[in-house]
Amino acid sequence: MGEFTNRRTVTARKHHQCGENKCVRTKEIKPGDQYVRITGHHDGSFFHFKLCIRCADLHCKVWTVFKYIHPDEGPPLGDLFWWLKEALS
Ligand SMILES: [Zn+2]
Repeated sequence: MGEFTNRRTVTARKHHQCGENKCVRTKEIKPGDQYVRITGHHDGSFFHFKLCIRCADLHCKVWTVFKYIHPDEGPPLGDLFWWLKEALS
């Protein structure tokens, strides 16, 4: 997931959308919900990304299972399910 990433679990103060294309929930992050904010630096540019707690959890699990994979070849943020489908086919 790039040269450095920073992930923080925060509580939403307003509505956000989960950045995962096929969110395991409804994509909606409501005020008061916990979500994971990921910021980082990749290919010379900064990015930030929001994931609902469930998708973030899934990302963690996938990284644990596929830990032998180079970070650049791992599941991209937002396309976890597409990546998994490819990896498992
Ligand atoms: Zn989600």
